[in-house]
Amino acid sequence: MKIMPKPTTIRKMLHMLAVTRPVEIGCDDCFEQLDLFVELEIAGKNAADTMPLVQEHRARCGDCREEFEALLAALKVQAEGQ
Ligand SMILES: [Zn+2]
Repeated sequence: MKIMPKPTTIRKMLHMLAVTRPVEIGCDDCFEQLDLFVELEIAGKNAADTMPLVQEHRARCGDCREEFEALLAALKVQAEGQ
């Protein structure tokens, strides 16, 4: 299957799916992928299944969990305002 260039988020997602299970990610990587994670969550997709490493990190890192909650709240307000 040939993969044509797609919007950034899709490319990011494909890249992440292609990455074979590194043990864990740090806060930098988590922050980098958090936008996408939240977008999936908002879209009703299973973000935790699609991005298990972010899910894992979020589960054990209070900072990233807070960041996630804040992003989620902000995007929800945005989505509802439209
Ligand atoms: Zn973190």
